[in-house]
Amino acid sequence: MSILSITTTRRTFIRQSAIATALMPFLFSCQESSQSFSSVLDKGAIDKLRNVFGGQLILPNDAQYELKRRAGFINPDLDRHPALIAVCKNEQDVLRSLEFAQQHQLELSVRSGNHSNMGWGTVENGMVVDLSQMKSVTINTDKKTAIVSAGATAAEILAVTAAYGLAPVLGECGSVGSGIVLGGGLGWLTGKYGATCDNLLHARMITADIQTLHADAQVNHDLFWGIRGGGGNFGIATSFEYQLHPVNEILGGSFVYPISKARSILRFFNEFMSHAPDELQADCYVTRKECWVEFVYFGDLNKGEALLNTFRKFAKPEKDSLKRRLFSDVYTMEPGGDLGTDPYVSNKGSYIERLTDEVIDFVIECVSQPPQSGNVFFDFSHYMHGEVCRIASDATAFELRQPGAAHLTYWLTWKEPSDAAACMTWHNNIFERLESYAGGRVYSNYMSTPGGANAKSVFGSNLPRLKQLKKKYDPRNVFHLNQNILPE
Ligand SMILES: Cc1cc2nc3c(=O)[nH]c(=O)nc-3n(C[C@H](O)[C@H](O)[C@H](O)COP(=O)(O)OP(=O)(O)OC[C@H]3O[C@@H](n4cnc5c(N)ncnc54)[C@H](O)[C@@H]3O)c2cc1C
Repeated sequence: MSILSITTTRRTFIRQSAIATALMPFLFSCQESSQSFSSVLDKGAIDKLRNVFGGQLILPNDAQYELKRRAGFINPDLDRHPALIAVCKNEQDVLRSLEFAQQHQLELSVRSGNHSNMGWGTVENGMVVDLSQMKSVTINTDKKTAIVSAGATAAEILAVTAAYGLAPVLGECGSVGSGIVLGGGLGWLTGKYGATCDNLLHARMITADIQTLHADAQVNHDLFWGIRGGGGNFGIATSFEYQLHPVNEILGGSFVYPISKARSILRFFNEFMSHAPDELQADCYVTRKECWVEFVYFGDLNKGEALLNTFRKFAKPEKDSLKRRLFSDVYTMEPGGDLGTDPYVSNKGSYIERLTDEVIDFVIECVSQPPQSGNVFFDFSHYMHGEVCRIASDATAFELRQPGAAHLTYWLTWKEPSDAAACMTWHNNIFERLESYAGGRVYSNYMSTPGGANAKSVFGSNLPRLKQLKKKYDPRNVFHLNQNILPE
């Protein structure tokens, strides 16, 4: 069964509005030109590929190019111009694209949901293998599993599984693509069922030597270990099989408070989450004007209501949208507050070892002094607790499972291109200052610096084993626009 619908969340809204605003002239003229060819590629070679390619090849002269060339966020660091974008329709297209990129020595970018902070879904002068149109989702209701093509987003997968009262363990944002599982994957159900990668049963991979491999607990189990947290280092995954879980009604929504209460709310949030049951996950957002806590609780909803009433008792929210709803609506819950719709966006993430008073004070200081023309918000998410922390750190390549840690993402948005330099300098400075709270670690999926030299902070004690795997499956480092592991 395949699906095409896209569900919008508060986070996708920022991303989509950014793209839409900047690219409005192109959105209405999306015709591929069969005459166009890249400045760095031979037209004959492109024509040859076109003859065997089922999807769409987009070149710099094509009308769609401007829309398709970009990373998910628009800012000067991510402004890249690929020589060729191969929008694949099926696995054969992926094989042919990979072959073409290697024949023509094109730097390779693999794109699914295009959500990487580093813009790894696009590349200057290279080739983008775009999986985003490969969206089939097939459910086995007896086994409670789903086989998902590599371009299906979290919301698209959930839309299919929810019809059967089942859910995959994916992220908190509906528009994230398959990169999530390769980096670990933390979401609303992670306290109960582990990370996304802990729920992966099987993947089909195309490796650098253009082989199609199966990877699961029995076949190519070394590769299976590596792709569960090791990023896109070992090949292009064309499909994934996930374990699903019965999830139906939840308690979901936000408690909103004025910014004057942010310090005490964040402190209580930390205390509250340190005792949270596996069935609860919550995020705490801080903007210049307000802060809010977004909750998702599943399990015994009466127990959940009693638990969340203790939060209400600690501080009565100014706005309270918490209610019983279907888990299938989790990606369309109304945001607690205003996150803005500026076209330009820089997005970074930092691992936070402990949500100390010092970190809290730092974040409150930051939101009170944003750059003159920028709009900033911080999101403390994925408070680490429950099943994800019980799984051994070497059971998969995803090692960072420390209870009590959290993940801070922080966004800076602005309206005019001329504001970019000041805004990005400010943002980079915040990132550097937050490093002192990270204990030298980085969560793969929020990596905000290049891979390679930073691999130790991402993979920790799993790095030596990952280097061996890299040497085995991708010794020439064809797949390097990712949380890169340099082959030994
Ligand atoms: C708004 C937002 C919300 C987020 N929420 C969460 C969250 O709740 N939990 C969480 O854990 N993370 C979250 N993330 C981080 C997200 O998981 C990572 O950025 C992830 O890498 C994005 O995957 P993608 O396919 O969307 O992005 P892409 O940019 O397309 O890909 C990211 C990386 O994965 C590689 N890749 C993607 N698909 C494949 C494939 N099929 N085969 C091989 N390599 C591949 C790419 O080459 C690239 O290196 C969020 C990010 C954003 C921007």
